[in-house]
Amino acid sequence: MNYRINEVFETIQGEGFYTGTPAIFIRLQGCDVGCPWCDTKHTWEIHLEDERSLMQINQPSQDRNVWAHGDVASLVELVKGYQAKHVVITGGEPCSYDLRPLTTQLHDAGYQCQIETSGTYPISVDSRSWVTVSPKIGMRGKKEVLAQAMTRADEVKHPVGRLADIEALEALLERCPTAAKIALQPISQQPRATQLCIETCIKNNWRLSVQLHKYIGVL
Ligand code: SF4
Repeated sequence: MNYRINEVFETIQGEGFYTGTPAIFIRLQGCDVGCPWCDTKHTWEIHLEDERSLMQINQPSQDRNVWAHGDVASLVELVKGYQAKHVVITGGEPCSYDLRPLTTQLHDAGYQCQIETSGTYPISVDSRSWVTVSPKIGMRGKKEVLAQAMTRADEVKHPVGRLADIEALEALLERCPTAAKIALQPISQQPRATQLCIETCIKNNWRLSVQLHKYIGVL
């Protein structure tokens, strides 16, 4: 199994349940969901001519549009070069890939895996993996959030800019009930969105996710 990888780096997980946890991020290439406020638009397209080698993927690049192929064994070896024991597989949309081979080998090698997905693709991961669904509702790519994704989710982390975003989440939870923990995350640290999230979290006993990495100035 081969994956297209945009970057691999080690940092502090700044969002959701694992906030504050040292983590190795594997960012996979490719996404057709089309969120207008996406801050990783460089992962959307796949240009064959931009490919670089896996050996270079964890080195800083001037051009974030480049990516590499990596098989499972090579990726696990790459991960072993870092200190953290928590691996976050993100994107792009990681669930456009079958993640079972990668997550199973990482768990077997002693790592905890977390997947960050939009919920618009069926989720194929090891049963031990923590799944964070950040449901992308009504985006340009016109993909539906799937009931299978909401059922598999350990955590639903919802980006909020305005009241309509919370109403969209409530409608989704009605259509696709889930036992997952719910967290609201203000988009771009906007004060009004943050206040709205605080009030809604208190009312519903949900959690607040504040993108800690942006406050402490790390990736
Ligand atoms: S799903 Fe993620 S990577 Fe894809 S467009 Fe939305 S925010 Fe960006």
